[in-house]
Amino acid sequence: MNMATETKTPETRIWRATVLTLFPEMFPGPLGISLAGKALAAGLWTLEARDIRDSATDRHRSVDDSPAGGGPGMVLRADVLAAAIDAADGARARPKDRPRLLMSPRGRPLTQLRVVELAAGPGPMIVCGRFEGIDQRVIDARGLEEVSIGDYVLSGGEIAALALIDACVRLLPGVMGKLASGADESFSDGLLEYPQYTRPQTFEGRPIPEILSSGDHAKVAAWRRAEAEALTRARRPDLWATKNSGQKPPKDTTDG
Ligand code: SAH
Repeated sequence: MNMATETKTPETRIWRATVLTLFPEMFPGPLGISLAGKALAAGLWTLEARDIRDSATDRHRSVDDSPAGGGPGMVLRADVLAAAIDAADGARARPKDRPRLLMSPRGRPLTQLRVVELAAGPGPMIVCGRFEGIDQRVIDARGLEEVSIGDYVLSGGEIAALALIDACVRLLPGVMGKLASGADESFSDGLLEYPQYTRPQTFEGRPIPEILSSGDHAKVAAWRRAEAEALTRARRPDLWATKNSGQKPPKDTTDG
């Protein structure tokens, strides 16, 4: 029966996020609200939060220990985490293409390109670290792809996982409806998005740029394009350089 499920085309398979965490009560959390929450309730995607502690084997259900070689803090044990990963795999036949991610400040920075790829797949398994991190051997043995959400350090991987899942879910078919295609947004064309305005017509003496009320769609489009380019040049010279190198942004191939 599982076989039949897994041979379905990606279009008919429901996108599924499996999160391995010491704090399953943090899920769905903010993902239970608004766009993502409505889609979750409607069955457009599914979320499974699994407690890593359920895979602890000793009397105290311990999941961490002090770092080999000394130093501060604690490290998540390889044996416990590997058992948690295997149990999650076993609970449901793992599609070959299902990425196994580890949220980690050492990881490859998450990009919209990778988000699009993850949203198009079956949905990832995501390991959330805590304490000083996790034993390197489980990263190697289970082929975890380390993903960072930015150059700063969180206290745990859960908020990073929520951010990653949120970015994916809004791209799933039917989630944003006809309101937005994502095609016009920041990063979609290697550019940051142009400024947006709505009523009132004048706010604290600041009018909406005249051209936006002109009704001339071509002029509006040209204005938006110019604004997007100016913003990108000023704020993200790195994106601007990539865009003008004539190359596509580097394609991620690492896949758990
Ligand atoms: N000692 C580690 C940091 C551990 S922070 C180091 O210096 O690299 C604890 C956990 O929070 C990590 O295991 C990871 O799962 C998560 N985390 C912290 N910062 C993150 C970031 N920028 N992106 C993704 N996950 C992060």
